[in-house]
Order: sequence, then C-alpha cells, then structure tokens
Amino acid sequence: MSKEKIQDKPANSQDTKLKIAYHIKEILLALGVEINDSTTKTPERVAKFYYDELFKSLNFKEKPRIAAYENSHNYSEPLIQKNIDLITTCEHHLVPIVGRVLIAYKPKNRIIGLSKLNRIVEYFSKMPQIQERLTMQIFNYLKEILKTNDIAVIIEAQHYCIKIRGIKNKSSLTKTSAYDGDFNCSNARIELNEYNRN
Ligand SMILES: [Zn+2]
Repeated sequence: MSKEKIQDKPANSQDTKLKIAYHIKEILLALGVEINDSTTKTPERVAKFYYDELFKSLNFKEKPRIAAYENSHNYSEPLIQKNIDLITTCEHHLVPIVGRVLIAYKPKNRIIGLSKLNRIVEYFSKMPQIQERLTMQIFNYLKEILKTNDIAVIIEAQHYCIKIRGIKNKSSLTKTSAYDGDFNCSNARIELNEYNRN
C-alpha cells in the first residue's frame, strides 16, 4: 500500500478545464487555425492534458508525503540513483524540458523507498518550471525528508525552447547541480559526475 498521500483535487476541476478549453480555442482562432472536425475537440483535449497531466502538481496543495523508514541495516555509504527520467515544462515558453536526474544521499537514521526518488522528481516536474529552481526544490525536499545534509542532485536536460526557437541549437545540454554535506567536496563531485557520465 502506498504511503504517499496527496490532497484531492479541488471540486471545481471541471470549471477549471472549461476555462482552459475556452482560452485554448481563443488562441487557435487568433492564430487563424480552422476549427473543423479534426480540431473541434482540441481545446477540450489540451485542457484535460494540462490539468490532469502536464501541470497536475498545481492541483495539490501539499507536496507528496513520503514515508521514511528507520535505517535498521545501518547502511551509511552513498546511495546513488541515476537516469531518473525528467520531463517538465519551461515556464517562459511552455515547451518541454527533457532530461535525466541523478540523486545521491548518505543515509543517517532514515531511508526512503527507491521509487520515492522518482516520485519526488515527478512531483516537482508537473508544473511550469525553470531548471535551477527544480534542482533546488528536489534538493531541499530530500533534506527535509531524510534529515541529512549529505545530498547531491545533478540534472542534465535539453530545453526545447533552445532547440526550436531563435538559435535552434539542437544538441545543447544544460546541467545544474546542488551538493551539500559530504558530497560538497571536489572528490565526491568528481566521483558523482563520472558515475553519471558512464
Ligand atoms: Zn524556455
């Protein structure tokens, strides 16, 4: 049974989706897109997609409650999880940011289930974002749950606003990171980045 508890969506979700659909239709019309058999349901579809998927974390008043367990095996070496899928939305252009996340922590008294690391990344991704803030939100939330400063987060991602717009650089990759505690020294940083690369 999942211990993650998230708040129910507000009762007016239907009203919100209708409002979004109305404005999406206005955008299409303003652009000169014909509303025909193929596009007639587009505003409704986009509204549902925004509300239920892409920006779904905005519906929750609280962060997901992640159950931490006692570190009964006294495991005290770094735990590193890499290649955590990241898909979020650039809040400046509303286009995807796609990449991967590495999370490392050194347990003190508390540990959490491995899939909870993916769950935390997913939660902070399902809202309009910038990569710098996303990095710090994941980092700070892990500190709060795990009650340790020995945390590192590395994100490498492609921004579709860079791929598509302006300079149209198709392969540029943006890296952000946060290190604290035992990971905040050059040896640990080098080790984590090497592990992330291989
Ligand atoms: Zn952007």
